[in-house]
Amino acid sequence: MDLKHRRVKLNDGHFIPVLGFGTYAPKEVPKTETEEATKLAIDTGFRHIDAAYVYENEEEVGRAIRSKIADGTVKREDIFYTSKLWVTFLRPELVQSALETSLKKLQLDYVDLYLIHSPLPLKPGKEILPQDEHGKPAIDTVDLCDTWEALEKCKDAGLTKSIGVSNFNHKQLEMLLNKPGLKYKPVCNQVECHPYLNQRKLLDFCKSNDIVLVAYGALGTQRPPLWVDENAPVLLDDPVLGDLAKKYNRTPALIALRYQIQRGVVVLAKSFNERRIKENMQVFEFQLTSEDMKALDDLDKNFRYISLDNVTCHPNYPFFEEY
Ligand code: NAP
Repeated sequence: MDLKHRRVKLNDGHFIPVLGFGTYAPKEVPKTETEEATKLAIDTGFRHIDAAYVYENEEEVGRAIRSKIADGTVKREDIFYTSKLWVTFLRPELVQSALETSLKKLQLDYVDLYLIHSPLPLKPGKEILPQDEHGKPAIDTVDLCDTWEALEKCKDAGLTKSIGVSNFNHKQLEMLLNKPGLKYKPVCNQVECHPYLNQRKLLDFCKSNDIVLVAYGALGTQRPPLWVDENAPVLLDDPVLGDLAKKYNRTPALIALRYQIQRGVVVLAKSFNERRIKENMQVFEFQLTSEDMKALDDLDKNFRYISLDNVTCHPNYPFFEEY
């Protein structure tokens, strides 16, 4: 990790900025807020922007990026934009058109990173979460190695610079790494990661295979009621984070973000609030001691906010594996 330049080299030679701007917001939040926040984030210095087809915000995020290119704040090549292939498009013949749909919404020629959003294929169609006749998730059977080959073709076609995965466990990563005829390794695995779920074993596995771990929910997630139990502990209220925030004269959020980049994890931070967007850029202004990193490591309790409980019946459900 090159903290001087605030970026990490991926296994395909491209670079990813170590701090990314999360753009997911629940449906109730007006999409104009996403657009304004993304512009503000770019003005503040964020160069890595994370979105997805399923967030239904690519038009606004694309508009924000293009407006910051048009006003001279950045060039296209300064921005690292990630999109994700939704689970109803994992059949290989659907992959390229799914990416083209995102590009059309974004009005960009390419994305920097295209991820398989999760290893849980659902039946293709208009629904985002299709259900079967019993109201259960409409599970599709797709060989993820075939999906991966379709992503490789998208990279070769120049529609994306890099390709990776999200929410894969180490066995699912291994399956891709051992695929006969593998052309490109996944550059990253984007997973939930924070002091209560520090993903130590998955991180070690990724590092040993030159795969970058990208942390989402690093501030404890937005706790969307659809996905997160309202009784889940509030990460940023943790007393250890609070004490360290006092010690470094920062905030618990900054401690949680700094923790990740110091352990070699690329970290996403979502905020649509001007003060907090600016605050999150301070992650580069201080350093935690190794004792304090250890104290943060000790907070791990294997606690997952987004456990995808509605799809535990899926044969590919990733979180039964230890890591
Ligand atoms: P997060 O980054 O953990 O942030 C959680 C909350 O922290 C935000 O709602 C934000 O509220 C607040 N916050 C931000 N900065 C703060 C600060 N300095 N002090 C106090 N509070 C602060 O949330 P996330 O959206 O769950 O995860 C980040 C991104 O990861 C997403 O936006 C999305 O791009 C990606 N993601 C990916 C997946 C996947 O399956 N691959 C899943 C979930 C998320 P305010 O806006 O009010 O500041």
